[in-house]
Amino acid sequence: MGDYQHHWKDGTPVHLPLGKIVCVGRNYAEHARELNNPVPEEPLLFIKPATAAVHITRPLDAPKNQGEVHFETELAILIGRPLANASASEAESAILGYGLALDLTLREVQNRLKQHGHPWERAKAFDGACPLSPFVAADTLPPGNIHFTLDIDGQRRQTGDTRDMLNPVAPLIAHMSSHFSLVPGDVVLTGTPKGVGPLIPGQTLSLELSDVLFVETRVV
Ligand code: ZN
Repeated sequence: MGDYQHHWKDGTPVHLPLGKIVCVGRNYAEHARELNNPVPEEPLLFIKPATAAVHITRPLDAPKNQGEVHFETELAILIGRPLANASASEAESAILGYGLALDLTLREVQNRLKQHGHPWERAKAFDGACPLSPFVAADTLPPGNIHFTLDIDGQRRQTGDTRDMLNPVAPLIAHMSSHFSLVPGDVVLTGTPKGVGPLIPGQTLSLELSDVLFVETRVV
């Protein structure tokens, strides 16, 4: 842990430090429903620390003995400009790259924390809780029309599309920046579509982003 560094798809490093990962919960109505959660009135935000990031192609080594670790496949945004109280158009022009992330979640721990009204960090912020793919440059994809998939052992498990987000990318980033300053190198996760489930040792996960990025990883 601790040696994560952003990369572009061609393998060259992105010379920006990862400061934090700002995430949104329940950004797809069907995922909120599958976990019997209400659709929130305003974005439900949380943060993963830089120590949660790992390269997604490394074998996934999730915590043992803390119950199920769920995968949540999410579009990841690499921030390239400082943002505070930004407008949606400022947020849009601050997007440097797109990638994919797994928002790994200790689901049983999270359910206990939720029951008590406690913060989610122990379920969401552990070392390795945020496998990140390399990024593709923002101008390679049409904003507002990005899709991604997760296959496990050859079976389609999750399909995401920016058009199905309750909070679309640019307004979401703008809203985040009204609560937390975003700085170059920060990453925004945009929520998971339905189909989440537990990681099981031996599984192979294949992720695809809008036909431009393909990554594969394995659960140990
Ligand atoms: Zn998530």
